[in-house]
Amino acid sequence: MAEILKGNLVANHIKEKIRADVEELSKINKVPTLAIVRLGNNPGDISYEKSIIKNCDSVGIKTKVIEKDEKISTEELSNLMEELNEDDNISGILVFRPLPKHIDEEVIRNKISPKKDVDCMHPLNLERIFEGDMSGFAPCTPKAAMEVLKYYNIPIEGKKVVVVNRSMVVGKPLTMMLLKENATVTVCHSKTRDLHKLTNDADIVVVALGKAKYFDEKYFNENSVVIDVGVSLDQNGKISGDVDYERVHTMVSKITPVPGGVGSVTTSILLSHVIIACKNN
Ligand code: NAP
Repeated sequence: MAEILKGNLVANHIKEKIRADVEELSKINKVPTLAIVRLGNNPGDISYEKSIIKNCDSVGIKTKVIEKDEKISTEELSNLMEELNEDDNISGILVFRPLPKHIDEEVIRNKISPKKDVDCMHPLNLERIFEGDMSGFAPCTPKAAMEVLKYYNIPIEGKKVVVVNRSMVVGKPLTMMLLKENATVTVCHSKTRDLHKLTNDADIVVVALGKAKYFDEKYFNENSVVIDVGVSLDQNGKISGDVDYERVHTMVSKITPVPGGVGSVTTSILLSHVIIACKNN
């Protein structure tokens, strides 16, 4: 039976540190504040927003929601970014993505102040990750996966890690973070051949496909550490990871559940970024 790598323990650990930081900042009259920019009323965005606000409240971070029509022009959104960049009461800015198709994302990514860019949107912050500088704002999901490995004392140095995803939000930044910790990383994608041979030969396997229950026993062995980043709905409409958890968790060494794994850590990483931004601004 695998050790279950629960995300809430990791998130609570991060939040404890954040609460202490909020307390310290209050002594110099600083209130960490997150501006959330939401375009339109997408139910997924609204539910994510509620969860972020609840999490912020629980640690003493203030939130300011700015809701705009999804038909907002690139120029108007860019002006809003500028206002928020210059507002001394705002520590960090989160813009819900994907942006509506008519918005020029490059303009917005370059407009947000790198110092307030808590969701790692600005190219400069992403570039830092690729240079091996992890001190700034990294994309929250891959950082959450790294925090899970660290919290559960899973050795990374010298280990063979297979990452099944090559996107800019998950796979590529995660690969850089793992390299920084001296792992030997193999990045896989939809054109990879004999994927099961590669995953079977790895010490740690991180999957992020978005295909419910895709990975069965064939992909793992009894020593596998499995980090499941995928989130999608299974045939019965239930939230599921990429791993067929019921079949796999009995045979591997360690595994993150979905829900309750990496996803539960992601928001606390975002909050920790608001603290960094508040200290730096
Ligand atoms: P994405 O851009 O669609 O990336 C999916 C990746 O999986 C691509 O690299 C794709 O390869 C690869 N892939 C697809 N089918 C494959 C197959 N049969 N074999 C091997 N590789 C395959 O998605 P994303 O934005 O990175 O997100 C991925 C998943 O992570 C989604 O489930 C998303 O919901 C989840 N996610 C979770 C969090 C969280 O906080 N837990 C945050 C963000 C995303 P190609 O490059 O060749 O197409």
